[in-house]
Amino acid sequence: MKFNKSILSLALVFSINVFAADKPEVMILGTGGTIAGAAQKATDVTGYTAGEIAVSTLIEAVPEIANVADVKGIQVANTSSSNISSDILLELANTARKALNGDTKGIVVTHGTDTTEETAFFLDLVNQTEKPIVVVGAMRPATAISADGPMNLLNAVTLAASDEARGRGTMIMLNDFIGAAYYTSKTNSTSLDTFKAYDQGFLGTFAGGVPKFYYGPSQATGKPSFNISKIEALPRVDIIYSYLDMQPDQLNALVDAGAKGIVVAGSGNGSTPKAVRDRIAELQKSGFPVVLASRTGAGYVTAKEHGIGSGMLNPQKARIMLMLGLTKTQDLAELADLFGTRA
Ligand code: ASP
Repeated sequence: MKFNKSILSLALVFSINVFAADKPEVMILGTGGTIAGAAQKATDVTGYTAGEIAVSTLIEAVPEIANVADVKGIQVANTSSSNISSDILLELANTARKALNGDTKGIVVTHGTDTTEETAFFLDLVNQTEKPIVVVGAMRPATAISADGPMNLLNAVTLAASDEARGRGTMIMLNDFIGAAYYTSKTNSTSLDTFKAYDQGFLGTFAGGVPKFYYGPSQATGKPSFNISKIEALPRVDIIYSYLDMQPDQLNALVDAGAKGIVVAGSGNGSTPKAVRDRIAELQKSGFPVVLASRTGAGYVTAKEHGIGSGMLNPQKARIMLMLGLTKTQDLAELADLFGTRA
């Protein structure tokens, strides 16, 4: 799918500085979302337009940021996060990589919370430095009473500038909690307390304006790393959802439409009705990758005979892993290794 040019049109057009030369440099990459959203009324926390306010305005609204970092801002996109395409992911990751290879101590990405987990997971797999990337958003638009964005942004910049954040991969910062991008997901459609990693928990919290980590630096077990500097487009991978009476039609339609891989949000430990399972087995025999994930929202999907188990990854993260995996290999066993589930 080609990206919407108007969404990307602001990319790299400006760079602002909140001058604090004695502080570490943090690069803020704006992509939109509710944190940059505006509503007609201060009481309106759902009927608003995401991606209305420039990242420079967000930064200027929190002058306290100058106490913790010398901030530069780049507007990579300004949209609701459901419009973040794989082209924008590549643009974002390449912009982040260039900054991380320079003096920047850490990166903050402002992003809509709806798909934060996908972008953060992608950035986690492609960042090849020890430097932190922190993805931040808000559940209330910038115009709301008790908007959560300003404090989340200050915390995110503080985190990206901190020595303790190094070597922990990409993190999601919201509602005073720090989560590993690898495991953390949005679990509630409207609550401020939405980001969770049900099985793995948080990495730490903010207390008194500073990050307090519960553990020393560590990375998700078996996390692969991808160099995307030469990749111009990611292969098409789709997700379908399993339910009672499901037939294989969607699988067939996606293969016909040119998908290079499919993730199934199966029931429980990746199960589907028999007709679907049989078609997946046929696709596997032909060398077409189908990853079986779970629609339950948590847990591990084990190795399968007829497809690839998604391991710890939920369907949307499994899709990102499969897209990146397919840039390296078509081999089903090697793809299964990325999920830690070679049969
Ligand atoms: N619809 C918004 C988005 O994901 C929601 C948010 O930012 O919280 O862009």
